[in-house]
Amino acid sequence: MARTGVREIVLLTLGWEDLPRRVSVEGAPAHERLREPVPGVLLRTDGGWVLLDTGFNTALMRDAALRARFFGSPTSRAVLPGPGEPLEEALAHAGIELAEVHAVGLSHLHADHAGGLRHFTGRPVHCQRRELAFGLGPDAEEHGVHRIDFDDPRHDWRLADGDVEIAPGVTAVLTAGHTPGHQSFVVDLDDSVGGGGYVFAFDAADLRQENIEQEISVGGRVHATPEECVEQVRRLKAIAAERGYPLVPGHDPLVWPALTRETAERFGRSPAR
Ligand SMILES: [Zn+2]
Repeated sequence: MARTGVREIVLLTLGWEDLPRRVSVEGAPAHERLREPVPGVLLRTDGGWVLLDTGFNTALMRDAALRARFFGSPTSRAVLPGPGEPLEEALAHAGIELAEVHAVGLSHLHADHAGGLRHFTGRPVHCQRRELAFGLGPDAEEHGVHRIDFDDPRHDWRLADGDVEIAPGVTAVLTAGHTPGHQSFVVDLDDSVGGGGYVFAFDAADLRQENIEQEISVGGRVHATPEECVEQVRRLKAIAAERGYPLVPGHDPLVWPALTRETAERFGRSPAR
């Protein structure tokens, strides 16, 4: 019997972050800076669209007092694509309604990944159990995890303890280190669309050259050593090599737009703005 896989991938850019390169690259000089895209991934699966990661919480960025509390870092700046709601606009551009997203997978709970979760109450949200426990704990906010993004009793949490298939062709892989319950995603495409697939590292590896090719640890870590973070990248590289899939870094300013165009072309969509 043919396996069932993902039938389409749409990559989204839900904003940008201006930040020191050392956030992504352990040991980089303090003055070096990058503008990194904020990723989202839409997957058409058996049963409907699954969204991986949700971008920023715009409400917290547009109110001056909340912005000072949650996005007041003197060294990093969050940038939205425009005056509207990035998720709604990105989905509208792809011709998909928010209501058509039937489940969400979260790589982790950082503010640039979990901030749009409020749009998806009542729908299954796949996250690692230890990530949510950390997010609801006392030291989350100092690590850029904002409880207000996800502490809503209406969320339908589907909490995993390790690797798990969250939808046909979509497998979460626990890659703890960047945060205590960070997960990456292996996406297997359906044979009907030519097969193959991708491994989306998300923040287990921000940048292709430094984090993946050179195996330099990401700079942002919670309760983990650089060695532990590099070990997770090696694990993802092994999975990718075994399947013959590209390993896609989470915040690469060159890789993300290039892959956005490539997937749009493959699936016959107009390229993202
Ligand atoms: Zn992160």
